[in-house]
Amino acid sequence: MFSKILIANRGEIALRIIRSARELGYKTVAVYSEPDSNSLHTMLAHEKICIGPGKASESYLNIPHILSAAEITGADAVHPGYGFLSENPRFPEICETSGITFIGPPSSLMRLMGDKNQARQEMKKAKLPVIPGSEAIVEDLTEAKKAAQKIGYPVILKASAGGGGKGMRIVHSPVQMEEQFSLAQQESKAAFGNPSLYLEKYIQGGRHIEIQVIGDKHGNSLAFGERECSIQRKHQKLVEESPSPLIDERFRRKITKAAQEAVQHLNYQSLGTFEFLVDSHKNFYFMEANTRVQVEHPITEMVYGLDLIKEQIKNAAGQKLSFPSHPKINGHSIECRVNAEDAETFAPCPGKIEFLALPGGEGIRTDSAAYGGWVIPPYYDSLLAKLIAWAPSRQEAIKKIRTALEMTTIVGVKTNIPLQLKILSHSDFIKGNYDIHFMDKFVSPKGSS
Ligand code: ADP
Repeated sequence: MFSKILIANRGEIALRIIRSARELGYKTVAVYSEPDSNSLHTMLAHEKICIGPGKASESYLNIPHILSAAEITGADAVHPGYGFLSENPRFPEICETSGITFIGPPSSLMRLMGDKNQARQEMKKAKLPVIPGSEAIVEDLTEAKKAAQKIGYPVILKASAGGGGKGMRIVHSPVQMEEQFSLAQQESKAAFGNPSLYLEKYIQGGRHIEIQVIGDKHGNSLAFGERECSIQRKHQKLVEESPSPLIDERFRRKITKAAQEAVQHLNYQSLGTFEFLVDSHKNFYFMEANTRVQVEHPITEMVYGLDLIKEQIKNAAGQKLSFPSHPKINGHSIECRVNAEDAETFAPCPGKIEFLALPGGEGIRTDSAAYGGWVIPPYYDSLLAKLIAWAPSRQEAIKKIRTALEMTTIVGVKTNIPLQLKILSHSDFIKGNYDIHFMDKFVSPKGSS
């Protein structure tokens, strides 16, 4: 048991973690930046402490400030949430030396899987199919062209330190490679401080399917059924569902077995997600593993009837996994990310929320830290609320989430709800007939629909 858990994050995920920690009987500490002083997480944690100005590098990414906050408040465990420091192996390393438990995987696992090229090579050893690609980092344009020629165009250039869709470029020809290679290197250096790139075959018409995994400190692990996350814009997920309309029980068994073997190979601990691309022939390929809780974890919770964050906290405290070895999916769940942004141009819309009423009712869950009167600071991501529906069937879940979106009332800032409703009413979505290019239907090259 810990005495107090500090949440090194903000927004809806900070609230989400506070809720599970409180249910387990823990005291909680919120950290916040100056513009977040009126944020809900600061009101709902037992204690709060300011860690710096608005810029994330000076607050939520500042390890010394966060660890000082833990020391001052006597917190002996830290939950990183997602984003910010959640995938930075320096954070657990420093926590370990300060006698604070990091609620997540060991730093060595984070370091290994955080380097996407290294993770690919490791997963090959675990016999997981990976997307055909370069064997290692491509150091320069000549190497990139050589590797692309071998793989066959189109290819995708990826930042080895990448995340959030940054540093990725689709390349269709050697001429395009000449144009794109150094731009991708520069983008990667600017975003991650590391210019290293690798190459993968670009899979046309693929679907993004991911598998939630969990492991404890006693060698037990489990892979759950899938989340379908193919509805994306600029490689950022917008709508997620579980189970995937593409996947039958046989395929589910195959892909979860592969993920389970990878987890055992790694002796994985804590929550994690293995992301796959599935091609039109239902071949699946490992893309990357995220060593943290995902934004879309609630849909897995809804169909399995469990609390992943509680389980993660219990695992960090040394308890054994408490799931049956073959948990069964029950019903269908869909999550929509409601962002404070213009539905047409996608420009973020920070500012004051004049009025807010989020939907509820049977089968509806809303994970949000927004409230009427709150001023959304311009420094962070634009996620305002996650609307999550559960129903016995997919068609009922679609009706429920559509109604929930229609009944969401937000005045003062623009949101992407009109776009979400278009997606959920599209005949291809309703048929479950979509892939990662689905959003092209809604977005013209200029960015308007
Ligand atoms: P990030 O870590 O930056 O989010 P990922 O490797 O997870 O990057 O890929 C994000 C998205 O980019 C995927 O969900 C998929 O839509 C697209 N993508 C990635 N790799 C490929 C590929 N080889 N072929 C086609 N699309 C890809």
